[in-house]
Amino acid sequence: MLEKLNLLQSLEIKHVNLLKEIQMLEREAKNLNIDTTATEELDKLLLRLESLNKDLKKMSHESGQLNEELKTVEQKYEENVNPKEIESVYDKANIIKEQIFKAEDKELSIMEKMEVLEKEVNFLKSSIESKTINYKKQKDFFAENLKALTVKLQDNDDEIKVIREQMKQEILAQYDLLKSKLSLPVIVALNNGYCSVCGMEQPSYIGNENLVTCVNCSRIFDGSHRS
Ligand SMILES: [Zn+2]
Repeated sequence: MLEKLNLLQSLEIKHVNLLKEIQMLEREAKNLNIDTTATEELDKLLLRLESLNKDLKKMSHESGQLNEELKTVEQKYEENVNPKEIESVYDKANIIKEQIFKAEDKELSIMEKMEVLEKEVNFLKSSIESKTINYKKQKDFFAENLKALTVKLQDNDDEIKVIREQMKQEILAQYDLLKSKLSLPVIVALNNGYCSVCGMEQPSYIGNENLVTCVNCSRIFDGSHRS
């Protein structure tokens, strides 16, 4: 009977520990969050890239227009025979050329900025990708562990049920009463005549009856002293 009681207690302690493990894992899984700062940063970069792209289009449209203008002016230049007008047309052409040069310069600097940004975007994208993979892995890990622990708990509880059914009702009642009043363990060792939990010395005559309890804390001795 003591053997069964010892086994029951160890299964019930295991039940408590498994529950604790499950709760801890559930808490950890709840705290598992995907880091969104990189995604936010990526959105910002993409917006900047978009606005640069708009600028670039505007600039190339502008330089296209300037080139058309230059063509017209140069045509006039070729057609014109009036020397006075030739000079003013020449000046105009030079001004337009200068504008075209500036516009192309701007286009180049925009393209350079875009290139840098695109590199950053690619870096962020791959970093987000690996973070997402990692997050999923961790999530799967928690889910698998939780499942395994739940199965373990169920098996353990089934075992507890079987043992309880095999035990005498009055012994179970005594054990459960102790459990409700004291914390586990309630089946304890007797070490050289002393209770291993409360430390009280026990009268020397004990040790042969079934279910010997501590004179102080009422815990049941596990029988290991009787060999
Ligand atoms: Zn005791």
